Amino acid sequence: MNHKQFFLQSLIVILSLNFFLPNKQSIIDFKSENFSLENEVKAAAIAVFYPRVTVDAFEKTAGEFFLVKIDNLRADDIINVKHNIFEEEETKIYRQAKSAFVIIALDYWTEAGDYNLTVSLIRDGNEQVLLNQSLKVLARDYAMQNLRIAQSTVDSSGSDDAYREYHEKFIPVRLQSDNVQYWDGKFIQPVEGVLTTDYGARRTVNGSLTNYRHNGLDLAAPTGTPIYAINHGKVVFAEQLKLTGNTVVIDHGLGLFSYYLHCDSLLVHVGERVIKGEQIATVGTTGFSTGAHLHFTTSYHLKNINPYAIMEWDGEWSR
Ligand SMILES: [Zn+2]
Repeated sequence: MNHKQFFLQSLIVILSLNFFLPNKQSIIDFKSENFSLENEVKAAAIAVFYPRVTVDAFEKTAGEFFLVKIDNLRADDIINVKHNIFEEEETKIYRQAKSAFVIIALDYWTEAGDYNLTVSLIRDGNEQVLLNQSLKVLARDYAMQNLRIAQSTVDSSGSDDAYREYHEKFIPVRLQSDNVQYWDGKFIQPVEGVLTTDYGARRTVNGSLTNYRHNGLDLAAPTGTPIYAINHGKVVFAEQLKLTGNTVVIDHGLGLFSYYLHCDSLLVHVGERVIKGEQIATVGTTGFSTGAHLHFTTSYHLKNINPYAIMEWDGEWSR
């Protein structure tokens, strides 16, 4: 057990023992006057069934994500999660019968620094803080890439009109995610390819600096190379756009998405459930693209996460 795991486990135990005991006196009794093995077991059972917050780590790098889970909830409990990493947005909470799930995704715009996370619970009209924790975000370096692209390609697939279409079609798709964890275990690499542009890279096109950042990975591979679903999920987009060419989006549930752009052919339809490793498309160079490659993006709703952070994760909520 490393230092971080020990700290997390200690945190869980402390939280479990201290909050929302209907009869705190009974715990004291177990430990003093009426101590017995039977009572110890009862105390342990109470601890297991009281609200418990786990955070997978307290320090992350821009492009990664914090995983926050609250267990042992009652149906009428209200959970509030507040942090100041990006204050303009309300923190989305995926709520199931006994658990609540929060992903705090950091992208290439997230500033390095010290932040704060508070998780509180309203039960029977009383609000109690379950966790008040500082979080650290570390900076990441981003590459600069200078592209030369034929003006005819810029005019046809990289135009303002192409960007307008992309935003109109893409933003609604990314706002809605199923309240189900479709993914299971590790996320796999979608294609065997060579990394040509990294996550977060700044770009110039024909000498002018663009105001966007490269939101995923470019993986070069020959046209026709199979592209696989990185985990189980539901296809929520499968069509051709001017900018991104033939495009697939998979909802993995609880706000996590994967995106496969510039495909040659698409093998799936909207609404279809796919399993990890299933072929969904082939590599191509459709849309605003200068050669056969897969542009692969992962996100938590609108926040584009570093795909390597997703692929290096074991898919579990705590570690
Ligand atoms: Zn790309």
